[in-house]
Amino acid sequence: MPTITINGQTLEFEPGETIIQIANRAGVEIPQYCYHEALTAPAQCRICLAEIWAPNPRNDNKVEPMMGGKLMPTCTTAATDGMVVYTDSPKAVANQKAVMEFLLINHPLDCPVCDQAGECSLQDYSYHYGRGVSRYEETKVKQPKKNLGPNVYIYSDRCILCTRCVRFAREIPESAELMIDGRGNQSQIDVFPGEALDNDIASNVIDLCPVGALLDKDFLFTQRVWFLKKTPAIDPITASGDNIWVEHNQGRIYRVKPRENMSVNKWWITDEVRYGWKFVHSDNRIEHPLRRQYGTLVESEWTRAYAQALEGLRTHSTDAGKRLALLVSPMLTCEEAYTLATLAREIDEHAILAVGPVPFDGEDKHFPPSLSTDDPDFEKKAFIKYAEKAPNARGVRRVLEAITGAPALEYDALLANHTHEIGAMIVTGNYPSEWATDALLDALIAPYAVVIDTLSGRLEEVADVVLPGATFAEKAGTFENARGMLQAFEQSIPCLHASKSEGQIATDMLALLAGLELEIPPVTSADFIVDEGPGQVPGATDAPALPRASLFNAGTVRAEMAGACEPLRVFATDVTAPAACEKRELDMEMVEL
Ligand code: SF4
Repeated sequence: MPTITINGQTLEFEPGETIIQIANRAGVEIPQYCYHEALTAPAQCRICLAEIWAPNPRNDNKVEPMMGGKLMPTCTTAATDGMVVYTDSPKAVANQKAVMEFLLINHPLDCPVCDQAGECSLQDYSYHYGRGVSRYEETKVKQPKKNLGPNVYIYSDRCILCTRCVRFAREIPESAELMIDGRGNQSQIDVFPGEALDNDIASNVIDLCPVGALLDKDFLFTQRVWFLKKTPAIDPITASGDNIWVEHNQGRIYRVKPRENMSVNKWWITDEVRYGWKFVHSDNRIEHPLRRQYGTLVESEWTRAYAQALEGLRTHSTDAGKRLALLVSPMLTCEEAYTLATLAREIDEHAILAVGPVPFDGEDKHFPPSLSTDDPDFEKKAFIKYAEKAPNARGVRRVLEAITGAPALEYDALLANHTHEIGAMIVTGNYPSEWATDALLDALIAPYAVVIDTLSGRLEEVADVVLPGATFAEKAGTFENARGMLQAFEQSIPCLHASKSEGQIATDMLALLAGLELEIPPVTSADFIVDEGPGQVPGATDAPALPRASLFNAGTVRAEMAGACEPLRVFATDVTAPAACEKRELDMEMVEL
């Protein structure tokens, strides 16, 4: 394999790779603004320039400076065998300092009020590669703040004209809403007249912008980034399985960002996924268990609600010569589907197990749109927005099929063919908006209904007991995406209000059926939301102490599932877990004021 030496480090490479690709892969730092692996390389920002030496075939393959010793862009220079590259030589360092000085000439240096502060390449490179002082004494050019589209602002005077955003709009959604308007120091990024930056994946430009020019309207001024903790998660509202970071502080989510995974979502997420988490903190969350008393739903403690639910489920199903039905929402994890199905079969060994409704909206779309579906590398190259708006329909079906030994019963078939034999039903929801259909409400008028859901809705009209479930952010588990990939994710925030994960609810009810008592667990540090950031405002919310059986642990349930039957062995072999959380590296001393 050919080799190249970058700053003294010898690295192997595939023919055709550029110097910056090899360095990025090996973790050798070369400063870069305009370069991004997904986009074309215009060699525009000039900060990645390096001194490059290579064997000269016309001089007995002696290693000589290329281009007469001129600095060359590492983002567009293909590596050749025996090449020697210096980005730390005096000439390269002088260029880095000159580029930084040039970029900062008209930059407002408003880091204290900039959302990007703390995750800004301009800040980082200024610290590592820039000068301590500016020699510029003229008046800075002031540029406007503009509204580019429904989710994005531009603060033009922070822009360094790297053109990542322009190239993204042209090359990935191919909608090309963005351009550079004006010349010289009057140049600024703008939308074409009459256009808005409003495509399905538009907000990825916010992540691409290496400085604080392109800003997320939703996140603007809500939180300093160094207070945020990142938890690896999976797209919770569509079948994409897109890898995401949930960024949160003190039990509240502030934003969702893409987590790079080349076999799923590459570097991107849709705007639908980016902003689809809002229901987690909705005012419409079911906060406490409810149970029907004299015809009215009243707030209840968990133990009383459990007791009423279990008694009602049993007396109206097996005791009444009827069957119990369990509707498992495709919004739930595989582990929860398994535990709920175990609970249903414990109450009624002939319980009907069915998958909840799987919403669809439009058709699948792929990006770039010009990429042909006949392309042999389509799967590898395309980023797909899925029409299926549920993260785990396949996972739930897989679990139910393994338990019943038959194809999973779908929602419509359950309502069409089985309502006459159902005496009681456990209904799970967890959809991001109202989901109950008229047909379901009609089907639940007669049977005893225990509803486990997150948002208050029409099901409460017919429910006998309502138990507050937890959203994706408040639990760990596994989703199976549209490509059949099983991906595990972690819990981001503690359960809100008095809610519990559906897995915990099923675990508690199984324990009660076994004659065990629920207990309020001793409060440990894990039950509190701990904030470590210096300067953080105190006041983290205490997790409510709720009575429970043993803690529902997704990892333990996965191991149990894998051992239960052959079809579920995949949960021991095929589940991919997220890599350990990225640690924010402090390269300067934080001072508590
Ligand atoms: S707005 Fe950001 S991404 Fe776009 S050109 Fe300016 S610095 Fe680059």
